[in-house]
Amino acid sequence: MSETLVVNEIYLSLQGESTFAGLPCIFVRLTACNLRCSYCDTAYAFTEGEKQSVPDMLAEIRKLAAPYSQSINGHKMPLIELTGGEPLLQPNALPLMKTLCDEGFTVLIETSGAHDISKIDPRVRRIMDLKCPSSGEVLRNRWENLRHLKSTDEIKFVMGTQEDYDWAKQKIVEHKLDAICPLLFSWVQPLTPEQQDKVLKKVPAGQTPITRLELAEKIIADALPVRFQVQMHKIIWSPDQRGV
Ligand code: SF4
Repeated sequence: MSETLVVNEIYLSLQGESTFAGLPCIFVRLTACNLRCSYCDTAYAFTEGEKQSVPDMLAEIRKLAAPYSQSINGHKMPLIELTGGEPLLQPNALPLMKTLCDEGFTVLIETSGAHDISKIDPRVRRIMDLKCPSSGEVLRNRWENLRHLKSTDEIKFVMGTQEDYDWAKQKIVEHKLDAICPLLFSWVQPLTPEQQDKVLKKVPAGQTPITRLELAEKIIADALPVRFQVQMHKIIWSPDQRGV
C-alpha cells in the first residue's frame, strides 16, 4: 500500500465521547476540515499536518497498541479512532480503516455528518454529528446519511444553546432517530481564549447559552432516550491540551 494521508497527530489516550468513553484509544487526527463550527476546539487541525504513508501510519499504530494484549467486551484494545478535522475529506482514510478492521481492531470514526458515510467499511463504528444551530453549520447536515446508519453507529449532537436542545429534540421525533442507533447529547465546554480561532463561525444571534446542568435536567424532565456526555478529556486534562 503506497497511499499517503496528511496527519495532524497520532497518539494514545482515552476515548472520551461516545458509548466507548473511558476505554484506551489510539487517535489518528487527520488534517483539514471544510466546516468551521463555532465551538471547534481543534482548529489547529485545519491546516497543521505532515504527509505520511499509510504503511508508516500502520507501523506507528501497531507500536502504540503493542503493550495491550486483552480485549474488553469483545473489543481488542486499544480502540482506534479516526478524527480530525474531517477524516472523510481524505479518500485514503477508507483503505486505512479497512486494514485496521482486517487486523481485528475496533475502529471508530468521528465525522461531521456533512460527507457521504456509505463508503466506509461496514465494520467501522461511525460516530456522526448532526450539526445543531449554534454550530453555525446546521445547513451542512447531509440528511441522506441517516439511511446508511446501523445500530452499531452513533449520532452525536453537540449542544451549546437552548435552541440546540429544542432542535435536536424535534429531529429525534421527526426522523425517529432513537430507533436507529445510540444518541449522544454532548455539552460543549466554552472555548479557552487560545482556542478561539478567528476563522470559526459565530453562534447565530439571539441564541441562549445552555449550562451543563440545564442540559442534564432537560434531558431528565423530557424523558429523552439519549446519553448525556461531557468532553471527558477536558475534565482530566487542561481544556486546551493537545495529544490527549
Ligand atoms: S466538523 Fe466542526 S468541530 Fe469538527 S473539526 Fe470541523 S469545524 Fe471542528
